[in-house]
Amino acid sequence: MASKGVQGVERFRDSLPIVRRVLDKGHFQLEDLMGGDAAVIRGARICYQSEATSPEADVRLIRRLMASEPKHNTVFEHAVFRFGIKCALFVARQWHRHRIGSFNEKSLRYCIADREYYVPADVSAGREEYIAHMEASYDLYDSLLKAGWQPERARGVLGTAVYTEFIWTVNAWSFMNWLTKRLDKHAQWEHRQYAEAALDIFQQVMPVTAKAFIDSVLTPVLGYQAPDRDDIAPQQG
Ligand SMILES: Cc1cc2nc3c(=O)[nH]c(=O)nc-3n(C[C@H](O)[C@H](O)[C@H](O)COP(=O)(O)OP(=O)(O)OC[C@H]3O[C@@H](n4cnc5c(N)ncnc54)[C@H](O)[C@@H]3O)c2cc1C
Repeated sequence: MASKGVQGVERFRDSLPIVRRVLDKGHFQLEDLMGGDAAVIRGARICYQSEATSPEADVRLIRRLMASEPKHNTVFEHAVFRFGIKCALFVARQWHRHRIGSFNEKSLRYCIADREYYVPADVSAGREEYIAHMEASYDLYDSLLKAGWQPERARGVLGTAVYTEFIWTVNAWSFMNWLTKRLDKHAQWEHRQYAEAALDIFQQVMPVTAKAFIDSVLTPVLGYQAPDRDDIAPQQG
């Protein structure tokens, strides 16, 4: 029998990966997902042994769960994402402090670093020196490799603006914790750009939970103003 409640994520499968370009050479992409709004409802309704009578009833339930104190957080853990991220090492270093989730990252022990590094777009003073320094560090890296150094040691001369890539599997509750911390105005601007891209995708694939989260958490806690979502269409990468 067809569900009378909110939808899951099956309809997004053919659109994966959903990609957002971030900063000069980075990206944030949704590679895979499980459950979505429907999984939150499954987690909640098993507690009450209830059934959806309409999508609106599920929407009201998710909004109530998100707004309640103390929060019924575990129901949101049944929705899971796998994201692929390309960012500067200094952003990744902050990201990996978020312990509730799983990470795997490109290894500069086993791979040779690409000559790809972040250059801030909004600075002019010192820009040429910054780029010259990064280029010189890559030149030294290359010459150390040629001299027989192991990549795991030669990488020591590269700066934290070097781009890295990792995958992050995270449930929706932990993901919202990351969003709350990294959309905050005290978070580093570069990290915030990834959180903005992530929120954009979140609103696309889990619209009911994302709206409840914005209304009950982001707006009251951070003063966050949600952009109009009507124009969102999946982008394929
Ligand atoms: C603006 C900003 C500035 C920061 N500056 C610094 C800094 O200068 N130095 C620094 O070291 N870090 C800094 N951090 C990192 C910060 O301290 C956290 O490590 C990071 O934000 C991860 O948050 P979290 O622990 O909530 O996330 P997760 O590690 O994903 O944990 C999620 C939640 O699980 C629970 N949890 C996880 N592990 C434990 C545990 N061992 N015990 C009890 N509960 C647990 C907590 O409720 C936690 O909120 C900064 C973060 C931000 C956003």
